[in-house]
Amino acid sequence: MPKLDMRGVRQTYAGVHGDVMALEDMNLSVAPGEAVAILGPSGCGKSTSLLLAAGLRKPSAGSILVDNEPVAGPRLKTSLILQDFGLMPWKTVEQNAGLGLQIRKVPKSERKYRVARALEQVGLQDFASSYPAELSGGMRQRLAMARALTCETDLLLMDEPLSALDALLREEMQDMLKRTWQAAGYAQVLVTHSIEEAVYLGERVFVMTPRPGRLAYTLDNPEMHADD
Ligand code: ADP
Ligand code: ADP
Repeated sequence: MPKLDMRGVRQTYAGVHGDVMALEDMNLSVAPGEAVAILGPSGCGKSTSLLLAAGLRKPSAGSILVDNEPVAGPRLKTSLILQDFGLMPWKTVEQNAGLGLQIRKVPKSERKYRVARALEQVGLQDFASSYPAELSGGMRQRLAMARALTCETDLLLMDEPLSALDALLREEMQDMLKRTWQAAGYAQVLVTHSIEEAVYLGERVFVMTPRPGRLAYTLDNPEMHADD
């Protein structure tokens, strides 16, 4: 059974000159523990696909299943990392990392333990009481990752998580994402317009057409399978 299964998904947005078709016919199936990348030009509906998969929007048509259940709203074990990381500037690193657990009403003592473990996994244990503004770009990225790691995530959705970083850091963070995924074993959907990133981080790469987005073709990634 796939972790995530999107079939014939269409999404239109209301625009000034009538409806805008953002996604025409999206089909995507991700196995448990599998990492896929969605590659496509700007505006083809990549972010929309993730918002739909996360249950933050309802599709205009088509079906979206997680664990064979229709997605009706946000799901506890689905984590979404956005381009700006969604950090709260007035909260400390520790509090930011614990936000997902707080929303899920996990008791404070358990929160503390899980946050400490996740911060250690991403190497931020010494920055627990710092604020996001005191962190470098790479550290913010790792903090967003720590937040997802605290939540027993089994489906991680990432919208261009590396595009705000400079080239050198991007390479380092690519390694971090790959290592964390391999260690934690969640299913992962990474949206990107970078071919290099898609090929480095996706076991399969879904290539989309320009807007309105459709799946153009799927690429089994020989590079990724070679070092399995
Ligand atoms: P991508 O992530 O591939 O750049 P998006 O999913 O963000 O694509 O957007 C797909 C299309 O839908 C774009 O043309 C965009 O302008 C439009 N769109 C996205 N979100 C909205 C919205 N909330 N309202 C109206 N149009 C939107
Ligand atoms: P990366 O994110 O890959 O670790 P960075 O350039 O972000 O690379 O940071 C490298 C190291 O420098 C960090 O792991 C941290 O120990 C230290 N560092 C970066 N920014 C700060 C900061 N604002 N305050 C203290 N130490 C920092």
